[in-house]
Amino acid sequence: MIFHAFLIKYGEIGIKGKNRYLFEDALIRQMRYALKDVDGTFDIHKSQGRIYVECEGEYDYEETVASLKRVFGIVGICPVVHVEDQGFEQLKKDVVDYMDQMYPNKNTTFKVEARRGKKSYPKNSMEINCDLGEAILEAFPEIKVDVHKPEIKLNIEIREQIYIYSEIIPGPGGMPVGTNGKAMLLLSGGIDSPVAGYMISKRGVGLEATYFHAPPYTSERAKQKVIDLAKLVAKYSGPIKLHIVNFTDIQLYIYDKCPHDELTIIMRRYMMKIAEHFAKESGCLGLITGESIGQVASQTMQSLAATNDVCTLPVYRPVIGFDKQEIVEIAEKIDTYETSILPFEDCCTIFVAKHPVTKPNINVIRRSEENLAEKIDELFEAAVNTVETIVVK
Ligand code: ATP
Ligand code: MG
Repeated sequence: MIFHAFLIKYGEIGIKGKNRYLFEDALIRQMRYALKDVDGTFDIHKSQGRIYVECEGEYDYEETVASLKRVFGIVGICPVVHVEDQGFEQLKKDVVDYMDQMYPNKNTTFKVEARRGKKSYPKNSMEINCDLGEAILEAFPEIKVDVHKPEIKLNIEIREQIYIYSEIIPGPGGMPVGTNGKAMLLLSGGIDSPVAGYMISKRGVGLEATYFHAPPYTSERAKQKVIDLAKLVAKYSGPIKLHIVNFTDIQLYIYDKCPHDELTIIMRRYMMKIAEHFAKESGCLGLITGESIGQVASQTMQSLAATNDVCTLPVYRPVIGFDKQEIVEIAEKIDTYETSILPFEDCCTIFVAKHPVTKPNINVIRRSEENLAEKIDELFEAAVNTVETIVVK
């Protein structure tokens, strides 16, 4: 079957008045971005309160659908066949032909649902429903009509051309990126943080990301893995500005000056501070991490409180209540899992203590950090000033 267009269904709850236009315009912008590298020429436009992707000439169907399935805000993608209006007898033939090609198994139920965009059409919607229904019943003796719960809802839209569609391919839902500001993702090479970024972006939030590496203790390949993960997340979120911070000197300094069982917590506090620095610089409205309660020592309620303590921006932790398996399922769905499990070292794991504190006391941690007074500001400055920033798309 050759489809000439896609009708895009999107969630409309809560998007009335001015917000509706903002939502639709952002959705169209994201759809254009998603389709820009797909083989084919596409015209995306709003018409009579709907969004259509018209495909001009040949195009790659699979790739087009896969790309649209990554655009947040899309609830359903309906592949549409266009036929010329050459009289009702011809339309009957076209519709029977459509049903025949789309549904080889006729042992099913259907209902015709016509909409008349062109009011001058000689039949009204009810008549179109009845007459086309009859033509289908005549052509395929096994098929049945079910007006309440049909297996197939055959939509016929009468416009300058006639649009026929019946399939709805589910989209990702959510809201178009750009409708809800921007946030800074702390992106490591693990499983959780790419999922966290995906989940916040799904609510219409654009992403930037910060990655901390510790050369020469962490390799170029570990860094490349994070860039690759950012690329995979960017397929959904749009381009991600990635800040790559050299964290080695800060880590070594903490290692030198602070109790080893508090290392991870203190390191994580500095990560949050530095990420927040870049977040504020570029107008991000929050931080995002892949933390989940109790997953490791640095993610107990007390540890999360100690990490949170240094932030003034809200910290979003969308996987906070998820089990690892639930996070893995999303990682598989969004295609980051295989990259996440590649075995490269993470900067946190290199300096970890054998027995990290699991219930850090914030006051104790703050006191330990006083040992860093001499050089930490200078090291912080240096880390910020030597940042490598790339745009990943
Ligand atoms: P992930 O699977 O996302 O790496 P994790 O289970 O390994 O998470 P931690 O290492 O404790 O957990 O990290 C918790 C969160 O802190 C991560 O989800 C991420 O948001 C952030 N984070 C950890 N390490 C880094 C890093 N090297 N660079 C940037 N952010 C990091
Ligand atoms: Mg990690």
